Amino acid sequence: MRTVFLAFRGLLGLLAVAAHLIFMNNTKNSLRRPMPSQLVYNYAESVYGLVQGKFEDSYGPVTEMLDDISKIARPHKESLLHDVIRCVGGLYNENAVYDYAHHWVDEARDMLRAADMPIPRWLTVNAMEKSDPDHRSALAKRVDKAFELAIVPAVFFMLFSDKTFLRDFQDRVAERVRELRRSEHPAALVRDGVVRRCVLPTWLIRAIFYRDRGLCQKCFKNVSGLDDPSAVRHVDHIVPLALSGSNDPTNFQLLCGRCNVTKGARRSDAMPTFTPYW
Ligand SMILES: [Zn+2]
Repeated sequence: MRTVFLAFRGLLGLLAVAAHLIFMNNTKNSLRRPMPSQLVYNYAESVYGLVQGKFEDSYGPVTEMLDDISKIARPHKESLLHDVIRCVGGLYNENAVYDYAHHWVDEARDMLRAADMPIPRWLTVNAMEKSDPDHRSALAKRVDKAFELAIVPAVFFMLFSDKTFLRDFQDRVAERVRELRRSEHPAALVRDGVVRRCVLPTWLIRAIFYRDRGLCQKCFKNVSGLDDPSAVRHVDHIVPLALSGSNDPTNFQLLCGRCNVTKGARRSDAMPTFTPYW
């Protein structure tokens, strides 16, 4: 009898563990991603510097990385900023790899860990210094994949939250737009250097609302509808189309009706602010 009781109790324990796992799986937010802070800060700093006109000797001007006109004309989930982050990543890896094996092996390990990918046993400073070509190409493939999975979305997340950066980035995009001629891109432009207005997709409107927490980014009025159901909200171009702004997702912010009217076709120049935690 006691054996039956123990077996029964064991079974109950197993069921409880299984239920816990199923429950945890169902409640876990499937979009939640790891934020590998140190790598993200390093790459974000490189992208930031590049947009400010530094590092052009190594990377070339940002405007040359903005060659996908379809992304200037319409919002793509893989935005222009994703393209620039990839350029920085690719060049950074290529330059850094084998001259600084010690640093590089540590960074490659961190990157694989961030992407939840296994770390191969041959990934050692010694092996990298010996320059085994098989290991080099195998490592390059894995690191590219890890960079794509773990670093690009996290760097994008960080920079997409920084309005000072976005305005500077869009100023660079505007330099590129000013070079475009309507005769060459009639579907994308209304006139030379001015992109055609487009209907914004729901995913982008939701993302801007989520990022800006339902607040007008100029006067900080709550336009979520929770405070005032009649509140009018606009998704505004940070650099207006008339000033060679683009329809890339990185060129939008939330404004209330009043601020949208008073801003008109001016470039957004308010300094971003924050509310301290205490
Ligand atoms: Zn406002």
